[in-house]
Amino acid sequence: MKKISPARLSQLLFLLLFLVLFVQTEYRGSDQLAAAVNSFFRADPLVAVTVLLAEKTMVWLVLPGLLLLGLSLVLGRFFCGWVCPLGTILDLVTPRIRKRGALPLLKGNLKYWLLLPLLGAALFDVNLAGLLDPLALLVRGLTFFFYPLFGDSARQVWVGLYRLLGDNRDYLAPGYALLRDHLLPFRETFYPLALLSTLLLVLIIVLERYESRNWCRNLCPLGTLLGIAARFSPLVRRPAGLCADCGACRQLCPTTFDQELLQREECILCLECQRRCPAQRVTFGFGRRPAGEPVFLQRRVLLGGLVSGFFLARVFRFRSPAAQARLLRPPGVTDEQRFLQSCVRCGECMKVCLKSALYPAIFESGAEGLYTPHLIPRLGYCEYNCTLCGQVCPTGAIPALPVEEKRRQVIGKAVFDKNQCLPFAKKTNCIVCEEHCPIPQKAIRSRTVAETTDDGRSVRLQVPYVVTELCNGCGICENVCPLEGKAGIEVFAVNDRSPLPAGGEPPPGGGEEGDPYGGAG
Ligand code: SF4
Ligand code: SF4
Repeated sequence: MKKISPARLSQLLFLLLFLVLFVQTEYRGSDQLAAAVNSFFRADPLVAVTVLLAEKTMVWLVLPGLLLLGLSLVLGRFFCGWVCPLGTILDLVTPRIRKRGALPLLKGNLKYWLLLPLLGAALFDVNLAGLLDPLALLVRGLTFFFYPLFGDSARQVWVGLYRLLGDNRDYLAPGYALLRDHLLPFRETFYPLALLSTLLLVLIIVLERYESRNWCRNLCPLGTLLGIAARFSPLVRRPAGLCADCGACRQLCPTTFDQELLQREECILCLECQRRCPAQRVTFGFGRRPAGEPVFLQRRVLLGGLVSGFFLARVFRFRSPAAQARLLRPPGVTDEQRFLQSCVRCGECMKVCLKSALYPAIFESGAEGLYTPHLIPRLGYCEYNCTLCGQVCPTGAIPALPVEEKRRQVIGKAVFDKNQCLPFAKKTNCIVCEEHCPIPQKAIRSRTVAETTDDGRSVRLQVPYVVTELCNGCGICENVCPLEGKAGIEVFAVNDRSPLPAGGEPPPGGGEEGDPYGGAG
């Protein structure tokens, strides 16, 4: 039997850990997530560097990512050969794909032209790293498409089995309970941008047709960042180049030996060349770096990359004012700019959201906000007692808050649309939204008035109104409104997202909504 290498064993263990954490990023009957499901993102150096550049202050949550970058300065790009789950997936598929030879288009400085603008844009306050970060790409593809597909298919199969087994189906029940409680998604939500996220993952795999680890060598911004760090590492391979009488490294090495000399920024430390060297000549150890290594990053590319980051930051800033009005961020987000700077676009909050309230933004927040989470109340609402999105957010973009505090966070404010809402538009009683409002003091109330209907009947009508000072914009009212399509009440974004005051009634004089449809009650 072929002996498994330590690097491969480590890869498989980290992939398993990644998948376990991914599956655990779900509501599984407890309000607290037991596992540190966001560990991979918190240890992601690209996330750490871009968040710090964009925020220009220390964010302690990303400290593991900085430590990993520090370790890469000593050990080189080991993360890619020993840890990265996307790299492992590529290693698993690549032997099954016949190669056609490198794509010249991807060679040269392209990878720096991807990384440097991301760093430059972050420096100018726009954090776009999550768009190309490999972990984010992987988690989004799984969350938006593959996991719901898996859940849906598993449930269909189970239904088929139940039908087939008739009266004997009870024997299957424990098996299904096990599957449901530990493996299946809590609910199957297919997301907008699922197709794009899946296509990107498929494209990364298709690229394996040209070279092994094509994405890692030529595109991945995280890998490129780690490669730059590897240039400073005192860990060296001897011999640094191909041996004149052998050259086997060219076939054994998954990344660096498409030239005669080891490309240090592409070596992923898998140690295959050492393990399988026919003459046992290859060693790795600390020492002086070989003389005469080529310059890996020309000044022109460095400056050009950072300057294009500046332009990228400006272009991506454009936002449509109309879309802004309905841009509802998860609870606890009070500053849109800070949120955009620290959100990794990892999709973890959307995956975990108990009521399927969070969806990836397309252009609601401009190109800068692509993939960031926003709440669509007509599709789901923020559960009053839930704090899950704050628990999984790896950078604190959505703050982790105790439940009492989270309940007071303002997402937006509800406003009645009197052209739609039944008591206003049709003079019919309806108190569905009032009944569902979770605020103990009720942010939706109604007063009884005498009204005359269009056909001349006198009726006693319960007319609802929003107590703006008590509304936290959770969206349940809009979600449960019995009207088809557009609801009779809608949650709008507000500039002032200060939390509701603890414990009480609205201040005297306050009370009813400021209503863009024509005033309260
Ligand atoms: S290059 Fe990127 S995708 Fe490849 S292993 Fe490294 S971090 Fe992962
Ligand atoms: S948006 Fe609300 S319901 Fe959804 S995860 Fe966050 S706190 Fe929970």
